[in-house]
Amino acid sequence: MTTPHAPDPRGLAELRERYRLERERRVRPDGAKQYLSTDAEFGYYAADPYTEATERAPLTDTVDVAVVGGGFGGILAGARLRQEGVERVRIVEQGGDFGGTWYWNRYPGIHCDIESHVYLPMLDETGYVPEWKYAPGEEIRRHAVRVAERFGLYEHALFSTQVTSLTWDEPSGTWLVATDKGDAFRATYVVTATGTLSEPKLPGIPGIADFKGHTFHTSRWDFGYTGGGPDGGLTGLADRRVGVVGTGATGVQLIPMLAEDAGHVYVFQRTPSTVDVRGNRRTTAEDVGADRDGWARARRENYLRIVSGEPVDEDLVADRWTASAALLEKLLPSFRRPLDRTGFEDAYEAADAVKMDELRARVEEIVGDPRTAEALKPWYRYACKRPTFSDLYYPAFNRANVTLVDTADTHGIERVTENGVVVGGTSYELDCLIFATGFSVGTSGILSGRLPVHGRDGVRLLDAWARQGPRSLHGFTSNGFPNLVRMGSLHNASSVNYTHILDEQAVHAAALIAAAETAGARIEPTRQAEDAWLAVLADGAADHEWFHAECTPGYYNAEGRGRPNGPTAYPHGAVAFHELLRRWRAESLPEILRTGTPDDR
Ligand code: NDP
Repeated sequence: MTTPHAPDPRGLAELRERYRLERERRVRPDGAKQYLSTDAEFGYYAADPYTEATERAPLTDTVDVAVVGGGFGGILAGARLRQEGVERVRIVEQGGDFGGTWYWNRYPGIHCDIESHVYLPMLDETGYVPEWKYAPGEEIRRHAVRVAERFGLYEHALFSTQVTSLTWDEPSGTWLVATDKGDAFRATYVVTATGTLSEPKLPGIPGIADFKGHTFHTSRWDFGYTGGGPDGGLTGLADRRVGVVGTGATGVQLIPMLAEDAGHVYVFQRTPSTVDVRGNRRTTAEDVGADRDGWARARRENYLRIVSGEPVDEDLVADRWTASAALLEKLLPSFRRPLDRTGFEDAYEAADAVKMDELRARVEEIVGDPRTAEALKPWYRYACKRPTFSDLYYPAFNRANVTLVDTADTHGIERVTENGVVVGGTSYELDCLIFATGFSVGTSGILSGRLPVHGRDGVRLLDAWARQGPRSLHGFTSNGFPNLVRMGSLHNASSVNYTHILDEQAVHAAALIAAAETAGARIEPTRQAEDAWLAVLADGAADHEWFHAECTPGYYNAEGRGRPNGPTAYPHGAVAFHELLRRWRAESLPEILRTGTPDDR
């Protein structure tokens, strides 16, 4: 790591102190409890605005595989299963169509800030070549539909349907899948792909239910009210006073679009994001060498290596993610940690200071009003919060119809009233209040308890894990829960390019199921295999915890409390994890297949 313009030790000490103070300004005693979930009284904020649910008769049939979730995880699981020759795959999805996060999030300005040629999965298989370096949300949603169509996943799919329980039936060797539409069908295998950030959350601001103007969450955009579409043209806002709460990755993409069309925009900011250069542009097949077989796979692997700290000969994507890759070292399990860490933390801190100075200078260069510029400067280490990228965000604050309201000193908006909001004793009258306040972490799926799973002998999964924490082999399978394969980041790997991780998981899940079908066996690891995996996870766990503990609060560090205890992810990086899985499939997969009675575990 070179540090050409690093501050001297005194400068670094001052910076550390500034970061500490800024963090202290923001840590709240109520931590993650400050948020409200979007159910019960606030269910309106999570309702599907895009598809009207239709009545249908409940199903009681049997399929080969039930997949819970129709985002990219579920779609990829379905596609890889179909490639393995599994016929009856039923994806059950809460939304009205496939797409997951790209189904729900359609807010104006929505794009993916991971390069489209590495983010969109199955480009080699579908022959599709994205049209932009960073694709708009609608292009990504359409690609999700394309993959689902290409692999025949609509045939058995259930939409606008939520799985409410999974119960293993030992005599028949099947899972009973119950849903909120009265279905009670059976599946030989279940794959869960319930996502990580799928339930919109609201800030628990006093008076939030009193607002009489229009209000919604960014992941349920109300185009009926605003007019226009994801590309803008929000004519319904022309003479409206619009308040936006939240300046994370969503707010940064949305705010310039609101600024274009709304009468006045009030941006209620608590912590500014880092906003680096975006440089979006149209791309051609030639630009990315799409005439070569396996071009997308090679590009995606190259990207994963770079953002995982692995050596490469060239940087095919060459963007701000790859340029700042060394600073992602602290971003959890996606990174291969250097073996010799002597002097590493110091070098890291110095390089981080250079990057953050560059980002703060960017604000000053673009934003005209010095007070606004000062408030927009991020004072924490890179990757404490999710990095964002935009060439439109800072210029929006030079417009006369945009006002930045800094709420750091009051821990966010103080109060919502019938007509607007109050910050620092000042009232802001609003016609519309939009929450860009993100998503609950870990509330969807099995781990939250919202999807109860009962395995062998009726044991509830969360009870089985209550004392010692989660147990698994590679994160996918657990003793006592035959033929249940989980996707997600628990005990697994992660990366900023999460669709790549999901695809590797889908390949693995499909391989397990195909092998069990061929052998006429059940998938279930022994407790010894779980113990061995837990030992791997514990080895070298989390030497980055101090980093998160010193970070400004957010969902990366449980709102300032640092990380939850215990190993939760593979500690040697995504590239090494994928190699490990490949080797295990080639050499050891039969060890997980059971044909005898359960007694031998
Ligand atoms: P985030 O959780 O990242 O941001 C929520 C925002 O709401 C923060 O700015 C937060 O401030 C603010 N906030 C919360 N409560 C209050 C309050 N009481 N008063 C004022 N402000 C408040 O949600 P996003 O939807 O922006 O992003 C979620 C994730 O989705 C991203 O981290 C990313 O993983 C993904 N995403 C990816 C995109 C992509 O291009 N790939 C685009 C958009 C999202 P504070 O920081 O102080 O808590």
